[in-house]
Amino acid sequence: MLSRGLARVKALPRAFRAAYLGAMLDADVLVIGGGVAGTAAALAAADGGARVALVRRGPGASALAAGAWIGEPPAAFRTALAAAGLDLERTPAPLPLADGRVLPFDMAPPSHAAAALPDDDGAVLVCGIAGLPGFRPHALVRLWHATRPRGLTLRSASLLLPATPAAGWAAASLAARIEHDPMLLFEPVQRALDEHDCSRAVLPAVLGLHGHPHAWETLRSAGLRVSEAVGGTPSIPGWRLDGALLTALRQAGIQVVAGRARGYRRGGGGEHTVVIEETGGQSVTMSATALVLATGSFVGGGIKAKPALTETVMGLPVHATAAGRHFRDPGDALALTVHERTGRQPLLAAGVMEADADEAGVFIAGAVRSDSGAMAGTGGRSDVGVPIDAGGRGDAGSRSGLGHAAADGWRAGLAAAEGS
Ligand SMILES: Cc1cc2nc3c(=O)[nH]c(=O)nc-3n(C[C@H](O)[C@H](O)[C@H](O)COP(=O)(O)OP(=O)(O)OC[C@H]3O[C@@H](n4cnc5c(N)ncnc54)[C@H](O)[C@@H]3O)c2cc1C
Repeated sequence: MLSRGLARVKALPRAFRAAYLGAMLDADVLVIGGGVAGTAAALAAADGGARVALVRRGPGASALAAGAWIGEPPAAFRTALAAAGLDLERTPAPLPLADGRVLPFDMAPPSHAAAALPDDDGAVLVCGIAGLPGFRPHALVRLWHATRPRGLTLRSASLLLPATPAAGWAAASLAARIEHDPMLLFEPVQRALDEHDCSRAVLPAVLGLHGHPHAWETLRSAGLRVSEAVGGTPSIPGWRLDGALLTALRQAGIQVVAGRARGYRRGGGGEHTVVIEETGGQSVTMSATALVLATGSFVGGGIKAKPALTETVMGLPVHATAAGRHFRDPGDALALTVHERTGRQPLLAAGVMEADADEAGVFIAGAVRSDSGAMAGTGGRSDVGVPIDAGGRGDAGSRSGLGHAAADGWRAGLAAAEGS
């Protein structure tokens, strides 16, 4: 919506005035960040009756996620995702990851949930695809065996698909090819199952790209018991999730601005004003009564470590915990790194606290939140920092993860709609 009066423009610093010359838009609730937390916040605020706009500079950590969800997202958010083509269901047993681990998750799309490894499910065939790097069935059988109880038999095979390119497959092009023609897999997988006397197969996560469930459902309804391991590089499940987030926003009629929020100001009338550098290079200014900051952590862009730990949009203080001590504005990032640790570093959990967004009407959601404060609405620690361990993947043992970020976003969106 255009215009809010010249008087306000004059009251702004020069950089903001210039941006106003581009365009001025407003909303009741402005969400900065379009990962799982920001999308949940925008959907919740729209659900609460607010006029919502969301700005995102690109995909964040959500688009790197391995496919299965740590934490359970709110039911209404799941419904929106399902309408956007991404169903989630509870996982019946730990799920196998393409990096060799087997971890418990809370929820997953059915194609991943079907890969669950209970301890008594007969013989499972782990199928690699010739020419596709990063998924080694023989090694995976050994690694997955190491963490699974006796009673489950794992065997391995490598499938040679028709029309395999001489240079091999890229995961995305193979996923797109399978989406276009799912039955391409039917005969090779069925033959391998028969040869190895197995009842079901676990493949890398390549069963479709945009219209993800289509390939899996086609093969299942043809009678083939296939499933997908969690993860893989690049993350096809993350790509699917990001597509579903954008579709859900579109379906809810939420205005999405592609660009980077690079300046924040609180106006005299109490409104929040944000300067956005659009992807095309033009600047726009957005005003809103309530603001949700859901910019993610280091990977998403909400926190940067150089030259010091910094929150990137509003300049909020960053909190971190190291060696059992809590730091506000810890300054030099490296000083807090525990050098001898190979596991999750305290810095990776650094973030901002809602209490520091002292202007009323600013809500913090998702991985940008510090894990050092109480998290409203959950009654517990705010622990939605990016859960990276040494392997750079989600740590299913922590309270971090997609589901927690979505729940936090939903809470923030509802509160923002109420406050707007
Ligand atoms: C490699 C990896 C694998 C993971 N795997 C899993 C997994 O398997 N399961 C699981 O549950 N969790 C996993 N996680 C954790 C999970 O991805 C995060 O908890 C979750 O994505 C956080 O969501 P978010 O919306 O808070 O942040 P993000 O998804 O990072 O979103 C941040 C958004 O803010 C935008 N943004 C940032 N700055 C600006 C700006 N100035 N202006 C405009 N937009 C901006 C970004 O472009 C992005 O859209 C993984 C994390 C990583 C890093």
